[in-house]
Amino acid sequence: MIHKKVLELISDAGSKFEQLKPDQLCWIGDGVIRSNNESNALHELAHFLVAPKSRKRSVNFGLGHCPDDNRDIDSPMTIKPSNAQKEEELASVLGILYEKELNLKVRDYPLWKATYSEHGWHDHSSKMSFEDVVDILLKKGYLNSNKTPKNPKEILCLK
Ligand SMILES: [Zn+2]
Repeated sequence: MIHKKVLELISDAGSKFEQLKPDQLCWIGDGVIRSNNESNALHELAHFLVAPKSRKRSVNFGLGHCPDDNRDIDSPMTIKPSNAQKEEELASVLGILYEKELNLKVRDYPLWKATYSEHGWHDHSSKMSFEDVVDILLKKGYLNSNKTPKNPKEILCLK
């Protein structure tokens, strides 16, 4: 079950939610976030929010295949790999901040802490620190001054 608060955020972004089927991608650009869990749904929502308008309707936002998705589904990368990596980091941190904001839990453990580990934010060797990305999101206007994420409606007005 996806939490009502997650569905509300997705709806505030003008998108819909559907359960992911095995032969589907999470985002094919039709305005529907397809996912099996809350963490992934919020991550896709964050991708939708950070992607420029020109790529919001592209398969996987033009970022190419997810690293952990080895299925044979066409998903071209339409920007430079280094820029795709940066956008991936923005989406990762914004999604984690939504998980924290909504206070989502998995068996009494904060979901955002699990996602923080899963996305490798303990290890800064190959990318920016979590805090650096938070500052970028703040400068870009995605966060309130207390570093909590703004509502998607507010974020989409920025662009
Ligand atoms: Zn992603």
